[in-house]
Amino acid sequence: MTSFRWGSALHVGQVRQVNQDHVHAEDGLFAVADGMGGHRAGEVASEVAIGTLVEEFTERSPEQLVTAVQEANAQVVRLAQDNAELRGMGTTISALALASDDGRDVLAVANVGDSRTYLLRAESEELEQVTEDHSLVATLERQGQLTRDEAAVHPQRNILTRALGIDGKVLVDLWELEPVKGDRYLLCSDGLFNEVDEARIAAVLRRLAEPDEAAAELVRLANEHGGRDNISVVIVDVVDAATDGGVAPGRVRRVTHGETRDGAAAEPIPARKAPAPPPSDDADEPSPAKAATAKGPRSRLTWRVGAFVIALLVVVGGTVAVVSWVHGNTYYVGIEGDEVVIFEGPVGGTLWLEPTVVATTGITADEVPAGMENDLDGGMAFTSRAEADAYVATLQDEIDRVADETDAGAGIGGVLGGGGSTTTTARPPTTPVDPATGVTPPPPTTLVP
Ligand code: MG
Repeated sequence: MTSFRWGSALHVGQVRQVNQDHVHAEDGLFAVADGMGGHRAGEVASEVAIGTLVEEFTERSPEQLVTAVQEANAQVVRLAQDNAELRGMGTTISALALASDDGRDVLAVANVGDSRTYLLRAESEELEQVTEDHSLVATLERQGQLTRDEAAVHPQRNILTRALGIDGKVLVDLWELEPVKGDRYLLCSDGLFNEVDEARIAAVLRRLAEPDEAAAELVRLANEHGGRDNISVVIVDVVDAATDGGVAPGRVRRVTHGETRDGAAAEPIPARKAPAPPPSDDADEPSPAKAATAKGPRSRLTWRVGAFVIALLVVVGGTVAVVSWVHGNTYYVGIEGDEVVIFEGPVGGTLWLEPTVVATTGITADEVPAGMENDLDGGMAFTSRAEADAYVATLQDEIDRVADETDAGAGIGGVLGGGGSTTTTARPPTTPVDPATGVTPPPPTTLVP
């Protein structure tokens, strides 16, 4: 019988006025959600997501945990559609649940966004991240374009590629893990791991046995290192389980459920594996009898040339596939001439593929608020056209807000999501450059928590 001991801590941090994180910790279901969206909308998104998850997770199966997260997504989308002041809200969610799979206890972990679930293994005391972040930098890291250390300090590390509330359909990552006595799980929002490195987090988790005490210490450290975001921490210890160690490899099973907004599959995995090396010379050394024949050395040469050609084709084919995929799944908003436009492709292009303008916005460079100029000069990158459109909508809202304040004689604020008044001014739709690529603009949102 699997049982737990747990503790949690939640803090607004040193900079933010509002706590948009929510946590849930009760026997058998634990979750962290990090909301986004101005005017307290993010607070609503994370609260609604957790509330819906708790309500929906009744059958206690891994698949139903995914369904519950999808229902939480649908609920956030519905609320945002029905309430103008909640427009653009979204939230991450990372959930750990005790579930039953064919009568066997399993720990199901579901994740969308960049909140994380970690595991400190009982047998090794090593900390490992169970979930994968759905963020721009995590995607670049998986593609080998950034190291983990570079991703950890990247200025665009808070741009998400997946979140609840953005679209009616959401892809949910699911892992199934075997409960092991002594294992310790940590669920947290980015307010923790952006401030405290993983070595320090692991040290606290090893040192403090009481979950509440360890959670409070992690929050204290995050605040001490700046506390620039809301901080939430849930710690779950497996107190009893059918397995108490000596666990075979492969106790973690990963499944991905759901569909993306365009029905596309999950990211392709670049061909990283080189072909198996040819046998060593010793093993491949022909016997004296074979060496005496003319065919021996020639067939070895042919085999090696063939292997080389195959390896080359795999590398070239893989590179073409990865570059094409990256190009077709990356957009950025930047300035072309004097106008803000949407480009397809990464900033600066990928090898032989240059970014191309796919939509104009009608916004001139002069209109861009001071706080956003630098972002656009460098190019704001996104992994879908919908997200780029959403950013343009946010930009237009900000321009309108600054103009309204100027008209009213008020001071100019001017940073994205900076707590200005809500405006409902209709934005000019972006104009597709190629009519064939025209899409209906999605509900405006920003993916910057
Ligand atoms: Mg956060």
